[in-house]
Amino acid sequence: MPEQIYLDNAATTPLAPEVAEAMGPWLGDAFGNPSSMHATGRVARQAVDAARAQVAALLAADPGEIVFTGSGTEADNLALVGVAETFGPGDFHLVTSAIEHPAVLETCDYLQRRGVDVGYLPVGEDGIVDPAELSGLLRPNTRLVSVMAANNVVGTIQPIAELASVAHEHGALFHTDAVQAVGKLPLDVRAQSIDLLSLSAHKLNGPQGVGALYVRGGVGLEPLLHGGGQECGVRSGTENVAGLVGLGRAVELAGAGRGEENARLVALGERILAGLEARVPNAYLIGDRYRRLPGHLCLGFLGQEGEAIRLLLALDEMGIAASAGSACSASHAGEPSSVLVAMGFDAIRARGSLRITLGRFNTDADIDRLLEVLPEAVESLRPITSHPITA
Ligand code: PLP
Repeated sequence: MPEQIYLDNAATTPLAPEVAEAMGPWLGDAFGNPSSMHATGRVARQAVDAARAQVAALLAADPGEIVFTGSGTEADNLALVGVAETFGPGDFHLVTSAIEHPAVLETCDYLQRRGVDVGYLPVGEDGIVDPAELSGLLRPNTRLVSVMAANNVVGTIQPIAELASVAHEHGALFHTDAVQAVGKLPLDVRAQSIDLLSLSAHKLNGPQGVGALYVRGGVGLEPLLHGGGQECGVRSGTENVAGLVGLGRAVELAGAGRGEENARLVALGERILAGLEARVPNAYLIGDRYRRLPGHLCLGFLGQEGEAIRLLLALDEMGIAASAGSACSASHAGEPSSVLVAMGFDAIRARGSLRITLGRFNTDADIDRLLEVLPEAVESLRPITSHPITA
């Protein structure tokens, strides 16, 4: 594996050693099927139940309200399609935001093709949805509102409690894609009136391919997967025991160290911004300066926005892993980011962001190195594009 300074923690995070240790036995001798009645199976069931309790504790939910899935994407699909199918498509209006992850936006497109009406909340230049705009979009048949807790491209934090309260006044359910937020933001599903919440283990130093959906007791869901009736019939399929043990340990670690770790990540992020201000005068921060995930920076380079991919490759060669927009759009590299377009950026500027996202294993030395090579990488892209400087 290439030795790189890894600054792309919003794409995925390295597995924490404590998580790997907890998973170890479940990749070896402890191989039981949690549905089996014998002792080997019962031990696996206990491990799955323990993981469920750990996830529930982080969200202040009941363990019975956690449905395990195979990814954050699946959790989002289950929330949206699962709720829509309990109503039937004919009389179902769903509201989401223009800056959702494709796991939500593509699911909305799918539902639209099946006869569901979808409304899109706009977003300000700061990358934040305004709850006052929601009332104007709600209709008598709005059954579900889905707005992410924190954005994966710009890192901005959305006012989910306020949005949930507007949705509830209207009798609609509220779902939040909290894949980027879990472990970083305080989440309390009761205090924030959340009916459904998606999360994913690999964003918080857990394993890839493991997710969960919180479903408030009493909320009905049609399953996406049919079969042996696991997860109370909502998500059939033999559980990924090792992965779930990893998820449980990861949420436990993230919850325990959150305050201190967030402060550390904010300080590292501030160091980057101060360093750029001094050394890269055309760099600017995209999205609200303060209402953002700790250690999540989305940067533009005035006059060089068309060169984002080259900048990324230059950094890659210099041993730094960062991202242009979101990793999920790798196959659309070079296309304008729909999130930046929704924030009012023109097509050229919307192509030109560099995302730096810090995580548990980043150190001051990583930031020193970034600040050493980034000015050089930006300089190497001159002469600048012919696009006029407009901001
Ligand atoms: N939602 C958001 C906000 C994300 O950032 C991601 C992953 O980048 C997902 C959903 C999808 O999660 P997963 O990779 O577990 O499918």
